[in-house]
Amino acid sequence: MLGIPFWPQDFYLFGLATITLFVFIILFTVVFGRVWCGWACPQTIFMELVFRKIEYFIDGDAKQQRKLKAAPWGTKKFTKRIAKYSIFMAISILIAHTFMAYLIGIEGVIHIVTTSPFENWSGFLGTVFFTGVFFWVFAYFREQACIAVCPYGRLQGVLMNKDSMAVTYDFNRGEPRGKISKGQVDVEKGDCIDCKLCVHVCPTGIDIRNGSQLECVNCTACMDVCDEVMLKIDKPTGLIRLASYNNIVEGTKKIFTTRVLGYTLVLSVLVIALSIFLTNRSTIGATALRVPGQLYQKTANGDIQNLINISFINKSFEPIDLEVKIRDFPNAAIVKVGKTGIHLNANSTFEAVFFIIMGTEDLNGPKTPFVIDVYKDGELVNSTETNFLGPFKFN
Ligand code: SF4
Ligand code: SF4
Repeated sequence: MLGIPFWPQDFYLFGLATITLFVFIILFTVVFGRVWCGWACPQTIFMELVFRKIEYFIDGDAKQQRKLKAAPWGTKKFTKRIAKYSIFMAISILIAHTFMAYLIGIEGVIHIVTTSPFENWSGFLGTVFFTGVFFWVFAYFREQACIAVCPYGRLQGVLMNKDSMAVTYDFNRGEPRGKISKGQVDVEKGDCIDCKLCVHVCPTGIDIRNGSQLECVNCTACMDVCDEVMLKIDKPTGLIRLASYNNIVEGTKKIFTTRVLGYTLVLSVLVIALSIFLTNRSTIGATALRVPGQLYQKTANGDIQNLINISFINKSFEPIDLEVKIRDFPNAAIVKVGKTGIHLNANSTFEAVFFIIMGTEDLNGPKTPFVIDVYKDGELVNSTETNFLGPFKFN
């Protein structure tokens, strides 16, 4: 990830990063509502900035699209449909290949593209499957993905409260709604002229004047169109705007509520913990375990000897040579069994067995904890702790 190799031993970082991300999403949603959905989600971005633009270019605006849909099949409708869906399919193929590159790498995608499907059925069928899914989603399923499938969308009801910012209709200003003519001053009516343009432009087909709804993806299309209406009838813009329910009711702007401060505190602790773990993460791992079935042996001169297995991991792209030393026991010796040297290739593991020899004067019972320090180029890079076994009585 970002040029840094991570190993399964780093899984705790993944867990912590996931929790941090979730808390960040919760905090972000509590404050800003569904801003992600309208402005960062790939589904909305592709739909609104690519597919819908093409649709408007070929089929015309919403009114013309409805007319075309209702019209009988003829040369014009047929040509437009072929043109639109051909372009949709071409873009879906492009997205599917890009998506596959995330899964199998760009080399894998080039291999699929440049070889016969008979030579790589799984890759070919995977690409065809994703092309079909993307085409179906963007040509037919569309906002149903946000309304019925997306788990984040379903969570909105839990995460948001009356202080969350969202695209909101100012019912204090807009109601009672009703049609007026230009320049008319009618104190009985609110600013909403009930033109329903906000409903017509809504990609999820809701009426934001009914209040915040699960289906709203915060795309702000209704805000823009309502502002245009307000300008035409000489009223201030912002009848539909980014505000919380309490902003509208109380006329105040309060973002930092107790709940937000609580989430911010939790997020700060998580970010600090994650940063500390990431910066202190060693690229060299070492774990010492006693060789199974071995207790201790006495050497000819009366010292005690243990057999220890050490697993090393090199989590870097460079080959390395390591050294090991026993900490705090200057008279203890550590001797590698077999060929000398601890050499690890790039991104690899290495296991070696060592004799640890200690004098009885260093032992304080049948189990003496001790630490093995791992050095690279004379610099301490990691350490591992285990127990040294000895007899109950030293005689
Ligand atoms: S666009 Fe504005 S004025 Fe028209 S119906 Fe919607 S809220 Fe009312
Ligand atoms: S209600 Fe407005 S902001 Fe929400 S999805 Fe519809 S158009 Fe977009």
